[in-house]
Amino acid sequence: MKNREIRIKKDFEDHYRKLLGELYEKFIDFSLRPLKKAIRINTIKVFDDLLPENLEGIVSGETNIGIDSLYNLRQYPFNLKIKATDVLKRLKERGWEIERIAFYKYGFWVSHPGRRDIGNTLEFQLGYYYSQEAASMIPPIVLDPKPGETVLDLAAAPGSKTTQMAMHMENKGIILAVDVDKYRLKALSSNLQKQGVINTLVLHMDGRKIKDLNITFDKVLLDAPCSGTGAIRKSFKTFIIWNERMIQRLSRLQKQLILSAFDVLKEDGILVYSTCSIEPEENEEVVNYLLYKRENARIERIEVPNLKRSEPILEWRGERYFSDIKYTLRIWPWDNDTEGFYIAKIRKI
Ligand code: SAM
Repeated sequence: MKNREIRIKKDFEDHYRKLLGELYEKFIDFSLRPLKKAIRINTIKVFDDLLPENLEGIVSGETNIGIDSLYNLRQYPFNLKIKATDVLKRLKERGWEIERIAFYKYGFWVSHPGRRDIGNTLEFQLGYYYSQEAASMIPPIVLDPKPGETVLDLAAAPGSKTTQMAMHMENKGIILAVDVDKYRLKALSSNLQKQGVINTLVLHMDGRKIKDLNITFDKVLLDAPCSGTGAIRKSFKTFIIWNERMIQRLSRLQKQLILSAFDVLKEDGILVYSTCSIEPEENEEVVNYLLYKRENARIERIEVPNLKRSEPILEWRGERYFSDIKYTLRIWPWDNDTEGFYIAKIRKI
């Protein structure tokens, strides 16, 4: 759909003017800009040599952005034939400009004067990298799953974050990847295979029934089904399908899912809740609901070096949220030139 064909509905505009105030125009401006393409290097398949000195001449802009010590994953035990910098060099030789994403060692912006199909390369098919929106890399960074842990991905398909978590876990421990949509699970299974993931079980079920399995987890990711209003840049259809009833329906589902996710955590376990929506009803209100329903839920402050963030919303439509909601992460599209995202980290005490 071309920009000039886009009609913004009156109730959409009224709603967002109320939410954003003077930032409304900026929101529309950013929502109409094409989303920057990004990739995540997959250290299950390629050797991690992503040191600033090795990136000189391959990556434009700053190569040493002070994040290298943060995520030094151990090398996967197979004999990896190709280095991360070789993959980047191959893309550069084909005309792709590559730039570091300031908040993640394995993330790179990629751009090309004539194309956007970064998923259409041999290197992608071989699983050397994954094409993933930059903000979508943040929830696994925050959850920080470790080798050997038991992890639940409760709304997992098509598996961007499952494959990223498997990489952080060095393919050790176990991930249970659940989704209610069997067609999307096919894409997930194919992505697991392509990325060389072998520590993940795939389960087709409604996440609201996860308790029935009688399993508890060290960590849970709930990247919830949402309205996608933070990701309008990816799909202008959101302008058309948006309506208040849809937001309320999703908010109810998200509240059920967050309780289910929290209830299968082990004591001291961590839940990360995320959406690519900017609606308070799908974000702060859902986390607030969890705090209200479960006394043993504690919000933890999220720290991601070099990531720009905005203030969470603490009051909306006459409802004041628990003050600890201020420790959660709200990202507007202009903060890091990504999708809009919301992320909360909750510990079970
Ligand atoms: N985490 C995924 C990734 O990074 O690739 C994206 C997940 S997408 C935002 C939300 C997912 O929730 C969809 O795949 C949808 O099928 C799934 N979903 C919706 N309702 C669900 C439910 N009741 N139980 C489990 N999954 C559900």
